[in-house]
Amino acid sequence: MAKIFCVANQKGGVGKTTTTVNLAAGLAKVGQRVLMVDLDPQGNATMGSGVDKRTLTHTVYDVLLESASVAQARVTSQKLIDGGCSYDVLGANRELAGAEVELVDVERRERRLREAINAVDTEYDFVLIDCPPSLSMLTLNGLCCAHGVIVPMQCEYFALEGLTDLVNTIKQVHANLNRDLELIGLLRVMFDPRITLQQQVSDQLKSHFGNKVFDTVIPRNVRLAEAPSYGLPGVVFDPSSKGAQAFVTFAQEMVDRLHQGLAA
Ligand code: ADP
Ligand code: MG
Repeated sequence: MAKIFCVANQKGGVGKTTTTVNLAAGLAKVGQRVLMVDLDPQGNATMGSGVDKRTLTHTVYDVLLESASVAQARVTSQKLIDGGCSYDVLGANRELAGAEVELVDVERRERRLREAINAVDTEYDFVLIDCPPSLSMLTLNGLCCAHGVIVPMQCEYFALEGLTDLVNTIKQVHANLNRDLELIGLLRVMFDPRITLQQQVSDQLKSHFGNKVFDTVIPRNVRLAEAPSYGLPGVVFDPSSKGAQAFVTFAQEMVDRLHQGLAA
């Protein structure tokens, strides 16, 4: 059975999509079978995985509205296969923005994704879900099917404030909807060790959250920012870059944590 993780943070631009696609590619690189689910109507994780969101016949939208199964809607990009880090993509595009409203009146609306993924979860080791920058019905669908939440964050002054809302949401979902859900860890991203404030916030995070802070730190690295314009994760675009190497190390840390049962 696959381990299912949401990459979530209600702030925009904190590195969720970069984390999702590069962790997916990193996990593929260390031999894991991965399904990446794009739950953001912006479709950046889809495009960043070499899949053109405009040409998709079915997306996660159809899956949420039960007009397609995951098996029907998932795709694999030739670019990822050629890059040797292949994972399946359940894509998204603008259409997904409508799901928020269309799901309001339906039954089991927060469990749609969970039920759909259940049907394929023996085919994967990991399912990674890229969440939109909100605590919406879409994010709730992600949280209801996940075992854990990975929170990418920049070590900035207001980082801890936003975290409180997310941690409370995770607690509520755990109590009411999904007993399996837990905060797996905080991932420090876009990190620049030369900035004293970032070091200080990083130290604060570790003293507050202990082993919930991943050991791996993702540096600020321009190759990671350039990769999406080539429709590739940084891990595939420039495997020797510092950013790509950090994500492969992070992928290995996730696999190791699972084996140690910390995230099980
Ligand atoms: P989110 O999905 O949370 O909105 P993104 O992953 O799209 O955030 O990242 C926001 C911006 O920061 C993007 O332009 C991305 O390329 C850039 N970025 C993310 N991580 C890094 C990094 N480690 N180094 C440099 N740029 C990064
Ligand atoms: Mg994003």
